[in-house]
Amino acid sequence: MFEGLSDRLSGILSGLTRRGALTEADVTAALREVRRALLEADVALEVVRGFTEKVREKAVGAVVLKSVTPGQMVVKIVNDELVAMLGSDASVIDLNAPAPVAILMVGLQGSGKTTTTAKIARRLVARDKRRVLLASLDTRRPAAMEQLAILAKQVEVESLPIVAGQSAVQIARRAMDAARLGGFDVVMLDTAGRITLDEALMAEAAEVKAATNPHEVLLVADALTGQDAVNTARAFDERLGVTGIVLTRMDGDSRGGAALSMRAVTGKPIKLVGTGEKVDALEEFHPSRVANRILG
Ligand code: GDP
Repeated sequence: MFEGLSDRLSGILSGLTRRGALTEADVTAALREVRRALLEADVALEVVRGFTEKVREKAVGAVVLKSVTPGQMVVKIVNDELVAMLGSDASVIDLNAPAPVAILMVGLQGSGKTTTTAKIARRLVARDKRRVLLASLDTRRPAAMEQLAILAKQVEVESLPIVAGQSAVQIARRAMDAARLGGFDVVMLDTAGRITLDEALMAEAAEVKAATNPHEVLLVADALTGQDAVNTARAFDERLGVTGIVLTRMDGDSRGGAALSMRAVTGKPIKLVGTGEKVDALEEFHPSRVANRILG
């Protein structure tokens, strides 16, 4: 991931640093290439526009000031704007609320939602020493409920016993009650996914949200789907008020567009990234590290 973009940007920027003085025209020409490289990496057009415009303003200012190393100044400006575009700091899951804290997991089917739920639970238990209860609300797909129960066992986290015939809201309420009685710190609610966005999915998730008042609503999206992942996030956010994004399949060979535009388009932070099928393949998202990786 990011390899293609990284190669292109390094090429463009080292062309600038090799020269001594720079003119405004040099900056404009380089930024045209940067713009093309970002678009080829599948970054959203509006984000590319905003980014190149900001870099241009600052870079032209730096060139006009006749700094001694104008090329390096431009590289620094690109780096800083890249970090700003990705969202300045790594933000983690917020559990700062009275227990049991509900975390609502939403996303399309196949995005990696159930796997990610188990990964996060494992992390909350192992790193944050929290007692976590998992519950699947996917009443239409018994296999999905089973899958969460199996994953829960694998990560040694408790899951709510499956009771046939209950609605998603009923299960969610039962999970909250069980957590209160059982002294759990966190309840993770794995909502039903669908192949495509639909109203029934949103309405059900909204109902669960109203019934459980979750402190975090985490949208799981597949990085390999590029701008579709960004559009999905925007739709979920408009309807459900997403608090953070988990981008999965960052181990795959996506061009990076979803990771690069998600924050700027949705205004919501990428909190974690999935980097494989295994339950420990979950990492924090650090904008400055990503920028470093891209700019080499
Ligand atoms: P859901 O339908 O959204 O609940 O998706 P699942 O959790 O069932 O995941 C679908 C498939 O994607 C499974 O085979 C997972 O192992 C796989 N998967 C989930 N996250 C990742 C990831 O970060 N990287 C890779 N390579 N595979 C993942």
